[in-house]
Amino acid sequence: MNAEVKLDPPPGAATDVRRKPRVAIIGAGMSGMLSAIKLRERGIEDIVILEKADRIGGTWRDNTYPGLSCDVPAHMYTYTFEPNPEWSHRYARGPEIYKYFDHCANKYGLKELIHFNAEVVSARYESGQWFLKTGNDELHIADIVIGATGVLHHPSYPDIEGLEAFSGDMFHTARWDHDVDLTGKRVGIIGTGSTATQIVPQIVDKVGKLDLFQRTPQWIYPLPDKTYSEKDKKRLRGNGKLARKIRDRYSKMFEMTFAKAVTGNRFLLWFIGWVCKQHLERKVKDPVLREKMRPGYQAACKRLIFATGFYEAIQKPNAEVITDGIERIEANGIRTADGQLHELDVLVLATGFHAHSFMRPMEMIGKDGVSIDEAWAEGAYAFKSVALPGFPNFFMMTGPNSPIGNYSLITINELQLNYVMQLIDQWSSGNADEIVPRTDVTKSYNEALQNSMSDTVWVTGCKSWYFNEFGKLAMWPWSFNHFIDVMKEPVLAEYELNKVEAPAESEAA
Ligand code: NAP
Repeated sequence: MNAEVKLDPPPGAATDVRRKPRVAIIGAGMSGMLSAIKLRERGIEDIVILEKADRIGGTWRDNTYPGLSCDVPAHMYTYTFEPNPEWSHRYARGPEIYKYFDHCANKYGLKELIHFNAEVVSARYESGQWFLKTGNDELHIADIVIGATGVLHHPSYPDIEGLEAFSGDMFHTARWDHDVDLTGKRVGIIGTGSTATQIVPQIVDKVGKLDLFQRTPQWIYPLPDKTYSEKDKKRLRGNGKLARKIRDRYSKMFEMTFAKAVTGNRFLLWFIGWVCKQHLERKVKDPVLREKMRPGYQAACKRLIFATGFYEAIQKPNAEVITDGIERIEANGIRTADGQLHELDVLVLATGFHAHSFMRPMEMIGKDGVSIDEAWAEGAYAFKSVALPGFPNFFMMTGPNSPIGNYSLITINELQLNYVMQLIDQWSSGNADEIVPRTDVTKSYNEALQNSMSDTVWVTGCKSWYFNEFGKLAMWPWSFNHFIDVMKEPVLAEYELNKVEAPAESEAA
């Protein structure tokens, strides 16, 4: 590890450490790397990070589409302990976010912990230990497993007749094919989510014709960007206090507005809706197009799009919004319900992700031989977003019902790790060999979660990826402050803290 980086145990960390666990982290994205840093702060060095790809970065590695950026302010979308004075814009672009995480991986000596091209295909718990097998035939035995597999990493390909018949170039936005030159081409984009909205302004001037296939219109909240000058950056260099102040200011703003609105503040919701409506009405000149693009549901019901430049781009003479339903895809393009064939050279699938897979398709077998698919037969759930009954010593980053629709992921993961580290302290201090949430408590917790959804914006009448395949909302219905409180400290009575007989010879292997 780089000698400059000194990781002090945080206040409250276990001091009577009798033993140190071996920890396997699945995934070397933002949350997996953060997990390793937090474990090391605790003095835990026996860590392996298993990463299916050949590079770090998770979502910021997989997504390379034109216009990729983060709609959370850059100074907020940074680890709290690693401010970045070099952000070029208020809303950072994908490549510089990747660069930031790569810098963190190097600075905190994480790459030496990572096994690349090592996709975990199975994980089995037996007698206090996890046995993990990777696709490249590695076997890892760990006391603790942290699943840091992200939320939006399995692209969703649309189930449209004839998709495979398309003879031009076709790719999902999370698998952007940079070998395909879009210059002068007839390009079709299916989808109008955050991703498509970022792509359109970036490619419209390059392509010959741009057809945007919209199934559902989206509300768009205008997001004024800002370029940071050399002077801005200079002010921040070596001034961690100022960086923290800026971060705190953005965080407070987020907390007081968006996070409150989505969980039921009617005035703030009205205000967001009003801003979006003004944005649409001011920017879209043609009344026919404006009505085509006007959603019929409350703004922020679907994941709100924060963007500027999209409305301007889609009104360019070579762009068109197509709202007739897609009938089928043919070799030369897309046939819509009105019978028209929209001829295309390139088809971009901006159709989102399977957001409820979590670490699956990995085969995961917990205590008593229960598989994760069996445990989640009626939809993924967790205890306080990080743990799961029947799966001891297994902790999830951004697990089910994390506040992903309320707040920024980095903050969420830092809070989750604060909680998880205290559970791991129970193992380290010898209080327990097996830490697992109680089934009854988890059941009540999830009932309370679902019963509280009725106040949220997500149930106000739209279809979104926030619902799982069983029609349940996979969101956090309470205030973000409540999440902060919950993550402060685990209530140990909500867990079984078991002792385990020494594991038998590794038969499970
Ligand atoms: P998405 O929000 O799930 O949008 C998918 C789009 O594809 C929707 O417009 C959907 O229409 C359409 N679609 C799906 N299947 C279709 C079909 N068979 N026929 C026609 N249209 C179809 O996906 P995304 O835009 O990739 O965004 C996913 C999430 O990634 C976002 O919600 C956000 O959380 C995250 N993201 C974040 C940022 C950021 O700046 N932080 C940027 C990009 C993405 P319907 O609406 O009708 O279902």
